[in-house]
Amino acid sequence: MQLDPSVVLVSGGAGYIGSHAVHVLKTAGFTPVVIDSLVNGNLWATRGASAFRKGDIGDAGFVRTVCDEFRPVAALHFAAFIEVGESVKAPEKYFMNNREKARVFFDTLAGKGVRNVVFSSTAAVYGEVTESAPIREDRPTRPVNPYGQSKLDAETHLRSITGVNSVALRYFNVAGAEPDAGLGEAHFPETHLIPRIVLPLIDAPEAVQSALGLATGFKIFGTDYPTRDGTAVRDYIHVMDLADAHVRALRYLLEGGKTDVFNLGSGAGYSVKEIVEAARTTLKRSDFKPGVELRREGDPATLIADSTKARDILSWRPERGVEHMIDSAAAWHRSPTYTDTILKKATIASS
Ligand code: UDP
Repeated sequence: MQLDPSVVLVSGGAGYIGSHAVHVLKTAGFTPVVIDSLVNGNLWATRGASAFRKGDIGDAGFVRTVCDEFRPVAALHFAAFIEVGESVKAPEKYFMNNREKARVFFDTLAGKGVRNVVFSSTAAVYGEVTESAPIREDRPTRPVNPYGQSKLDAETHLRSITGVNSVALRYFNVAGAEPDAGLGEAHFPETHLIPRIVLPLIDAPEAVQSALGLATGFKIFGTDYPTRDGTAVRDYIHVMDLADAHVRALRYLLEGGKTDVFNLGSGAGYSVKEIVEAARTTLKRSDFKPGVELRREGDPATLIADSTKARDILSWRPERGVEHMIDSAAAWHRSPTYTDTILKKATIASS
């Protein structure tokens, strides 16, 4: 089968990061074809794709049909469940979706001659981190929850397929949106720090805030960490910088690059209190006072990426700072699309 060098199959392209990657792929001249089961994804998020087919990555017949129709030269694999807490409660759901279905997906692609795959992985593959130094790719991988293990198993399987070159991108913390393209995150539940700060600050509708457990306001989880101000430190990058890294990884593979793994972060850490301060300033809400709660179980004190390798090999460096993450998230969270999506998901969850 003659492959089309511009066509890229994007699994999970109706999700948060996948939809931004589709946007950047299109701008870069590729033809992104999205497949998504819409279990968590949103149909509106596929608007920017050249084509969309609804279906499951674990359905080999479906994947073969899409490959026959579009003849992609490469795939970006985003489709996965992402909640650490849920993975502890329902490990089989995570191993089925993130590992077994990913295995079917990769093997089916290989069978169709798709030899370039970029895989959306996570810092959770490293497991317990007690040091505060930036993490390199050669750090041992010892996941401490089914989410991290399922992603590591998928990485390992992908690497083992003869004739397929792949890049695993291990993300740290991702935030922000591309409101001008009608894109942003619409998770339900929403556990991430930046949306949980931004929603109360922009006075999001009460129904949205209470559906997301924000009725009593934003709370800092733990002020007794061994960090500069007692709150946990993370490495945040803007979702458009992350999307850009995928396109660079794709080009690297298409130009003959070998299978590899890259951490993606800015190399700089922000504490929860520093993010709160940045949000107060960026959104001009000096009156904002967060509440405090006990630590969230399983949260390490500090997680910072050493992304030297991505800089050296992919020439990737994040360009958008924390203010832009907050500002773009605020614009997105004010949009009717976001509000409607959360209210719909809340209605379904309660029915
Ligand atoms: N966090 C918080 N309050 C919240 C949500 C998150 O204090 O409502 C903290 C969380 O404990 C962690 C940091 O913010 O230290 C980043 O959390 P997030 O869930 O965004 O990403 P994670 O690093 O857990 O993947």
